Amino acid sequence: MITRLNVHRQSADWQRALAQAVTDPEELLKRLGLDPALLPAAREASKQFRVRVPLGYLGRMTPGDPNDPLLRQVLPLGEECLEVPDFHCDPVGDLESMPIPGLLHKYHGRVLLVTSGTCAIHCRYCFRRHFPYRDASAIREAWPRILLYLRTHQEVREVILSGGDPLTLSDDKLAAMISDLAGIPHLRTLRLHSRLPVVVPERIDDTLLGWLTGTRLRPVMVIHANHARELDGTTRAAMERLELAGVRLFNQTVLLRGVNDDPDVLATLSHALFDSGVQPYYLHTLDPVQGAAHFAVSETHALAIMDHLTQQLPGYLIPRLVQDIPGRDSKTPLVRSFPTIGNSVL
Ligand SMILES: *Cc1c(COP(=O)(O)O)cnc(C)c1O
Ligand code: SF4
Repeated sequence: MITRLNVHRQSADWQRALAQAVTDPEELLKRLGLDPALLPAAREASKQFRVRVPLGYLGRMTPGDPNDPLLRQVLPLGEECLEVPDFHCDPVGDLESMPIPGLLHKYHGRVLLVTSGTCAIHCRYCFRRHFPYRDASAIREAWPRILLYLRTHQEVREVILSGGDPLTLSDDKLAAMISDLAGIPHLRTLRLHSRLPVVVPERIDDTLLGWLTGTRLRPVMVIHANHARELDGTTRAAMERLELAGVRLFNQTVLLRGVNDDPDVLATLSHALFDSGVQPYYLHTLDPVQGAAHFAVSETHALAIMDHLTQQLPGYLIPRLVQDIPGRDSKTPLVRSFPTIGNSVL
């Protein structure tokens, strides 16, 4: 008998990896042999934003260490439930720059599309943890309007697929979107912002490489790694496949207290990225999103870290320290203001 199952393709390895992610705080603690006393707070905080950790990523954590820098990114803590002044639900002014649901046009020459509300991992510091994905996803009925917007905005060269995580969408959906985008002559560059090459490297399979490199648009991938321990042989293999296929690779990092607020940790990350063929791009200060205040690093400390990195690394391995300030026309570099010397008018 022919059942429906027979005619469907088997789900790919990456889809299984997504489905098998740990979503129960109790299971997370058990698998790592951590103190069950952490559970009540984790349960409470996960009501606001669920736990989600792929098994491959969990496997890179050190069992028994509650301060593991990978664990800290995904374990809900009681601090998340505190109301902290100046920490908001829309910290970067996304909703004011959305002419069409799912299309953010803040900067000259590039637009960002919120293509999916789903992520492979839930990062506790996420600046979009309160984003109203249901009302603002670019791939629903808004798609024809988005294409029209792009056609009429001749100055846009680059489309950024973001989310959520665009690589949680099916290959068929992505291929169809990209084919529509490639039909708009003034678009040149296709950029993806994704954490999947790091947290579910199985995602970088032949099917993906097929649609990503089978377009006239120049493919760029900006991955998101915060610590060298997030990178291993599986992620390196994924980056190598992308690099060989001609995809330019950059990384963005969020500066996080207790995870990577240390110059040696960040220098090691830059070297590990380089070993994987990835160029360090941005080091973001934490966006003041409600529930993430305990990750904040002071500006003084951030600048001191940058001074150390400048002493330790070649220029091309130093990420730019930037802040996302609502209303600005680019990310804002955070730099030391040097005192002026003498009365020079220059
Ligand atoms: C960060 C961001 C971009 C990309 O900025 P680049 O400096 O080009 O990396 C584009 N659009 C929006 C809305 C952004 O937040
Ligand atoms: S992968 Fe990115 S969008 Fe998704 S939870 Fe993490 S930081 Fe947020």
